[in-house]
Amino acid sequence: MSEFLKNGVLTIEDFEVPPEARRKMGRVIMIECVQKIPCNPCSEVCPQGAITIEGDITNIPRVDFDKCNGCSICIANCPGLAIFAVDESLGDEIAEVGLPYEFMPLPEKGEHVELINRAGEVVGTGKVKRIMKPKSFDKTAVVYLEVPKKLSLDVRFFKRKN
Ligand code: SF4
Ligand code: SF4
Repeated sequence: MSEFLKNGVLTIEDFEVPPEARRKMGRVIMIECVQKIPCNPCSEVCPQGAITIEGDITNIPRVDFDKCNGCSICIANCPGLAIFAVDESLGDEIAEVGLPYEFMPLPEKGEHVELINRAGEVVGTGKVKRIMKPKSFDKTAVVYLEVPKKLSLDVRFFKRKN
């Protein structure tokens, strides 16, 4: 039984992870949407046609990782805050994680933050690299964090230190 079914905490066994070779080529998304709900903004907004929901609208979305260019539009448009981006093209030590963020005020570029995993545990420290929030994103920003590479598949939120 998956950890999600046991205790409500997702693990990378519960959804499709982009292959390491693709992650090393640059930013790509991971969809951590595992419950069958009637929802499809992710597939509607993707300009590359990289996300598909086959058949019934309650089916789980699938990503064509080769079509995804990491633009992150889907991250800001997912009402379930279930889409994240990872980029492992930045060297041996550092990776980038992009995540949806709906709190105000937004963090500052360069700010050091505590990194949080899917279970809500602090797993390390990272830095805010960039914040994307054009008017079209409504209330959801996408925050890109610089994280230790070994945490690239684990970091799913962050806590500000001040
Ligand atoms: S990041 Fe951009 S290209 Fe990739 S799936 Fe999302 S909307 Fe499509
Ligand atoms: S928009 Fe988000 S919650 Fe809705 S189907 Fe897509 S990934 Fe799941």
